Amino acid sequence: MAKTDLYESPDYYQLDELLTEEHKLIRSSVRDWVKKELSPIIEDYAQKAEFPMHLIKGLAEIGAFGPTIPVEYGGAGLDYMAYGIIMQEIERGDSGIRSASSVQGSLVMYPIYAYGSEEQRKKYLPRLASGEIMGCFGLTEPDHGSNPGGMTTNIKDAGDHFVLNGAKMWISNSPFADIAIVWARDESGKVRGLIVERGMEGFTTPTTHNKWSLRASATGELVFDNVKVPKENLLPNVSGLKGPLGCLNQARYGIAWGALGAAMDCYDTALRYAKERVQFGKPIAAFQLQQKKLAEMITEITKAQLLVWRLGVLKNENRATAAQISMAKRNSVETAINIAREARQILGGMGITGEYPIMRHMMNLESVITYEGTHDIHLLITGMDITGEDAFK
Ligand SMILES: Cc1cc2nc3c(=O)[nH]c(=O)nc-3n(C[C@H](O)[C@H](O)[C@H](O)COP(=O)(O)OP(=O)(O)OC[C@H]3O[C@@H](n4cnc5c(N)ncnc54)[C@H](O)[C@@H]3O)c2cc1C
Repeated sequence: MAKTDLYESPDYYQLDELLTEEHKLIRSSVRDWVKKELSPIIEDYAQKAEFPMHLIKGLAEIGAFGPTIPVEYGGAGLDYMAYGIIMQEIERGDSGIRSASSVQGSLVMYPIYAYGSEEQRKKYLPRLASGEIMGCFGLTEPDHGSNPGGMTTNIKDAGDHFVLNGAKMWISNSPFADIAIVWARDESGKVRGLIVERGMEGFTTPTTHNKWSLRASATGELVFDNVKVPKENLLPNVSGLKGPLGCLNQARYGIAWGALGAAMDCYDTALRYAKERVQFGKPIAAFQLQQKKLAEMITEITKAQLLVWRLGVLKNENRATAAQISMAKRNSVETAINIAREARQILGGMGITGEYPIMRHMMNLESVITYEGTHDIHLLITGMDITGEDAFK
């Protein structure tokens, strides 16, 4: 079902003027790659619920794995604006492929870079950046989703190694990951991060089937049955929930940009379709009801573009707060999911087919609105930030 990808990004307020030439160059090279390598195959992979493993090398080459990690560790050494742009272009193609990239860069490479020893950085980061090995991030448990602080996965000190027991659920990339960053409680109750490698005895990664969302992303469990993890695999420089939350901040920042990419693709597709589809002797774009939908979409996209651009400036200056990132993640995903639903209607019956990307984006976004903090939880984070009152418990 190979299709020509005619995507043009909407830029109603000339926001391109806020980007550097380097940012625009990065965007155009990632966009070209998405058009050439991702768009032609993604529908088939989503339909068969399979992650396109052959894209890993190309994703590494466009800098999708660890864009902000310094070059000396194999990263691209780019700024946060570039990171956002890369995620936006990839998610414009598919949220599942962006998810795989976010996990690798923000949830696996970032903790090794930020919390790992120099030996761990040298051992893992260059191979993760090149896609030679892939990683996953295990925080969520069957009984602890929005409340990861309740986790029961645990490690016990056994001399030269830890013994790891427990289970993680809903883990992106788990079925093929070579390593897992696993968050577990130690004997004193502190949350610690460990690098668990495929092949360690007692470590299995069963695949999660029957998803109607993120079908081109591989999801699975992580099961630990008395796994012996060498002490040198502990991330030495962090303890407590601030470890995983620091990683989630990085990833949520990327999602704020990424989900907007999906919104822009839905808008672009619906606008083109509305201009071409004739009913009652006119293009449907000439009817007020369709114009209202399209006009609302571009308004919401433009507002969200400004928000993530400003967030990028703050992130580059190391001033973006976790609450600001929450607001942007929540806003972009809500904007995207609403636009996907409206865009689908503009395409009428064609909107439900795989001939167009809209239904796939819409279904993907049902995961994006839930993972990395649900829509509700991000609202509560904003609420807590402005009132000083914690409404979680
Ligand atoms: C496709 C996919 C991929 C994922 N990938 C990963 C991954 O790679 N690594 C990982 O660790 N996790 C991953 N997750 C897990 C994801 O982060 C969790 O699903 C998410 O945090 C929500 O947890 P839950 O599903 O257990 O929902 P729950 O926490 O049970 O929430 C259920 C509902 O209750 C609401 N709720 C919960 N607490 C409150 C409260 N205090 N006040 C008001 N409402 C509340 C929530 O908003 C939600 O609507 C993934 C999930 C999906 C679907």
